[in-house]
Amino acid sequence: MKPMAGRDEYKRLMKAPRRTTTPCRDVADFTADRLDADQQRTLEAMCASCPLWALCNAYAAAARPTVGFWAGRPASEISKPLAVAAV
Ligand code: SF4
Repeated sequence: MKPMAGRDEYKRLMKAPRRTTTPCRDVADFTADRLDADQQRTLEAMCASCPLWALCNAYAAAARPTVGFWAGRPASEISKPLAVAAV
């Protein structure tokens, strides 16, 4: 059976908040379906100050979530296929 993408990164991220308060805690916009430009800038700034940014970014890169706002960017940007360099 194929393991869930990002499972280990998710475990590390979920353990960390027990010791650390994240700016996104209880902020509904982080799970909103759509964000306007001002909302997105606000969330980007919150993520930029987050002590768990690296763990969150590692999870987002591994799991490629399709909803939410992760490590300073919306899921729609995370889930885009990676660009492949021309050879
Ligand atoms: S970097 Fe991740 S954990 Fe930190 S505020 Fe942003 S979404 Fe929340």
